[in-house]
Amino acid sequence: MLDADFFRRWMAATSASVDREAERLTALDSPIGDADHGSNLQRGFRAVTATLEKEAPDTPGAVLTLAGRQLISTVGGASGPLYGTLLRRTGKALGDAGEVSEAQFAEALRAGVDAVMTLGGAAPGDKTMIDALVPAVDALDEGGFAAARTAAEEGALATTPLQARKGRASYLGERSIGHQDPGATSSALLVAALAEAAGE
Ligand code: ADP
Ligand code: MG
Ligand code: MG
Repeated sequence: MLDADFFRRWMAATSASVDREAERLTALDSPIGDADHGSNLQRGFRAVTATLEKEAPDTPGAVLTLAGRQLISTVGGASGPLYGTLLRRTGKALGDAGEVSEAQFAEALRAGVDAVMTLGGAAPGDKTMIDALVPAVDALDEGGFAAARTAAEEGALATTPLQARKGRASYLGERSIGHQDPGATSSALLVAALAEAAGE
């Protein structure tokens, strides 16, 4: 079973990994964006961990909805509302249970990813965070956290040959081809942090 502490560890591991990889995320956002993805997420996840320490929510759902709200209010770019919606919607789907099973979490995360697709209008293949998140939730159902991590990393790498159809990178048309999507790359970090929190 996964308790509030597991979800706090997930957010802390994400924040640490975003700190380590911020320069790389911003560098990926330079040729096909506005070179701020690393700093956007760094600001957002630092605020998330600070708020979680201060308010100490005690259910999985409360941890994720608070984290999502914090991302929405601190990240100005497209990724803030999108990641904020992912976490908030996932948290809402978990309700107020003190502990949730891996299967319940997988179902909730799928609802979160669906909400991101509804909000942003992106489908798989559009060269966005969705290209890492959808394979991750599919793999989570079948193979657990470690399989989800591998699927997200492969999904992020597979964005390189794609032409962007959503977000800033889509303004470049064919010139967006040949670059890995920064948001898919940060989504792979988020999913890897999940496996880390689970000790896998
Ligand atoms: P901004 O583009 O506003 O500067 P960021 O640089 O923080 O925001 O985030 C860019 C990332 O957000 C992209 O690499 C892409 O993965 C993701 N993204 C942008 N628009 C969408 C969308 N409509 N749906 C899903 N993801 C999107
Ligand atoms: Mg950007
Ligand atoms: Mg920006």
